[in-house]
Amino acid sequence: MTFADLGLGDNIVRALAALGAEKPFPIQASTAASIIDGRDVLARGRTGSGKTIAFGAPLVEKVLRAKAGVKRDFGRAPVALIMAPTRELALQIDRTVQALARSVGLFTTQVYGGVPQGRQVGALKKGVDIVIGTPGRIGDLHRQGKLDLSQVSVSVLDEADHMCELGFLEPVQEILRQTAEGGQKLLFSATLDREVAALVDEFLVAPQVYEV
Ligand code: AMP
Repeated sequence: MTFADLGLGDNIVRALAALGAEKPFPIQASTAASIIDGRDVLARGRTGSGKTIAFGAPLVEKVLRAKAGVKRDFGRAPVALIMAPTRELALQIDRTVQALARSVGLFTTQVYGGVPQGRQVGALKKGVDIVIGTPGRIGDLHRQGKLDLSQVSVSVLDEADHMCELGFLEPVQEILRQTAEGGQKLLFSATLDREVAALVDEFLVAPQVYEV
């Protein structure tokens, strides 16, 4: 099994190799087809299992296919959103997803708290395809009208249990309710406690479930 067998295009496969990923890890091999097909996914993946590439590579492939032939306008609203509990994790995800996105001419930006909003707002104004960030800042920018979530058709929740532990359940719910109706949801979590179950119940439709 290769990354190309999973339905990923040549540029993404080359970008994965440049990141040191030549052969898919089990979680990557099992979730790619569901993600590209548009299914909701619930994956119990631990850190180190390769979950970033498991959602990142098929997500970039999907966004690319959705945008084939569409002009990438200045000021366009993002079509994919990745939420993580901490700035460190958001930056780590961005390093991987940005490399994959760039390989096919797509743009990512990160939005997280603890730094001034200016640069983040500037990047959003230019237009991006994929936003990666923490729920607090995503919610703030959305409330201020600086982050349009209405075109988001794929949302990823990484370390959903950790986000809930940090008190982000309500902000995450509010954010997901602002994304496009019927959008795809991918939820990654090490545990499935009550708050994570609330997210699964409200937002995931007939999810494919993976244990890794
Ligand atoms: P993650 O679980 O996403 O934090 O990934 C853990 C580590 O595994 C990261 O350093 C990745 O770059 C690396 N990695 C992920 N997938 C692969 C792969 N298919 N082959 C080799 N390394 C990988």
